[in-house]
Amino acid sequence: SDHQLTYPSSPDAMNWGPYYPAFVQQLPEDNAPTEPSETVDVSTTKDDSTLTTNQIRKLTQDVEVADIGCGFGGLLVALAPKLPNTLLLGMEIRMQVSEYVQERIKALRAQNPGTGLYQNAACLRANTMKFLPNFFKKDQLSKIFLCFPDPHFKARKHKARIVSTTLNSEYAYVVRPGGIVYTITDVEDLHNWMVQHFEAHPSFERVPEDEQEADECVQVMRTETEEGKKVERNKGPKYVALFRRKEDPPW
Ligand code: SAM
Repeated sequence: SDHQLTYPSSPDAMNWGPYYPAFVQQLPEDNAPTEPSETVDVSTTKDDSTLTTNQIRKLTQDVEVADIGCGFGGLLVALAPKLPNTLLLGMEIRMQVSEYVQERIKALRAQNPGTGLYQNAACLRANTMKFLPNFFKKDQLSKIFLCFPDPHFKARKHKARIVSTTLNSEYAYVVRPGGIVYTITDVEDLHNWMVQHFEAHPSFERVPEDEQEADECVQVMRTETEEGKKVERNKGPKYVALFRRKEDPPW
């Protein structure tokens, strides 16, 4: 159950600073000599819902890539050095798994001091089937990854799938025109379901295969996710499909 999860009331109310401390905007008073302050780190983040919007330290740039149901974070940590100027966010519903990813990123940052490496990756615990637009503004994201989502085989469980007509409209809202939703699964039925739902959605079109295969993120998605590795070991199939967010129609 996710009843204990907290969500920002709007994207502006989200305090991203503890997740990306290297990207917090400096204020003039930061240069004033003061007592050394405690380093803010994601692992020390407590409930900050008491912060008001004007107490929140803005980042120098917005999160642009979301890995939905990121699991143990393999994709995130593989993509972070490849997209060093982009902020990446893993979103994971399981508490222990999201904490594991936070610790993994903290360790990678500590192992690469002074390089900025992995400062652009973070993970937060959330149920992405709820309140996605509370985290991201319209057109904020350039990429969403849906890697090996839980298949929910039985028909009566299909409503639990993270691709649906309703959720695709949320993805369309947070992904900018030209942005890409990446999907991969080893379950053919789920692949067909995702293709069918994205192709039926007026805001998305499928990316042709030659373009898909030329996208460097596709190879990372096949080989670096924990599920992708498991499927590899079992010599299972991997079905990939990418969908481009179309321009909004003129009024
Ligand atoms: N993407 C990872 C990979 O490819 O290795 C993990 C795949 S795993 C099969 C699916 C993950 O999605 C699990 O870690 C699960 O906890 C997470 N998940 C399922 N529903 C979710 C939701 N509504 N919000 C966030 N995460 C969710």
